[in-house]
Amino acid sequence: MHTMTADEAGENLRTVRSNIHDSAEAAGRDADGVNLIAVSKKQSDDRVDAAIKAGQRIFGENRVQEATLRWGPRRQNWENLELHLVGPLQSNKAKDAVALFDVIHTVDRRKIAETLAREFDRQNRQLNCFIEINTGEEEAKAGVSPGQADKFIAECRDTFGLPIIGLMCIPPSSDEAALHFALLRDIAARNGLRRLSMGMSADYEKAIRFGATDIRVGTSIFGQRVTS
Ligand SMILES: *Cc1c(COP(=O)(O)O)cnc(C)c1O
Repeated sequence: MHTMTADEAGENLRTVRSNIHDSAEAAGRDADGVNLIAVSKKQSDDRVDAAIKAGQRIFGENRVQEATLRWGPRRQNWENLELHLVGPLQSNKAKDAVALFDVIHTVDRRKIAETLAREFDRQNRQLNCFIEINTGEEEAKAGVSPGQADKFIAECRDTFGLPIIGLMCIPPSSDEAALHFALLRDIAARNGLRRLSMGMSADYEKAIRFGATDIRVGTSIFGQRVTS
């Protein structure tokens, strides 16, 4: 199997960073205001290590168990790693998630908000959180519907005391992503939330034009996902 070298990972990262820079500039924004989260789910260890060697420090994973196996040991070898959970969280994984991750992007229902609040207290560890909005109101997708967003954001802040820093969305693949990015931006603005987690390999440049502060990029950095 093809092994990714640090050079190759570095080259992909340079390309993505240069695109981030250009899109930010075109939108009259500072590229430093865009965090690049390298989504390493289902990638081989050598690709992940190549990206670390190439200087990447912010990574995203979508499964708690897979992430714990991969990042538990690496955390001890590398300083300044920042790990983001970008996939759905189940209550029974909350304890491990809070122990491992630094940021949660997928707070999407009352039960998980409540469980996270309790776990933050228990572990004396407050993780910054994004609330996931199901902007396309898709049956099969996680997230709060846009109509419930204001109420749920208030509940997360006031009832559960979660450190909510922004909103996250995954637009329906069949739709124009821009509509969803604009909707997420509007919901965040009216709730005084500054950060927007939106944009993946196919559309991160567009997301930056709509104000994305946290883009989640996998295949453009690592290539096609290799494990299931
Ligand atoms: C897999 C995944 C990504 C990365 O997708 P790419 O198309 O490989 O860039 C981003 N966000 C979430 C929530 C994901 O699950």
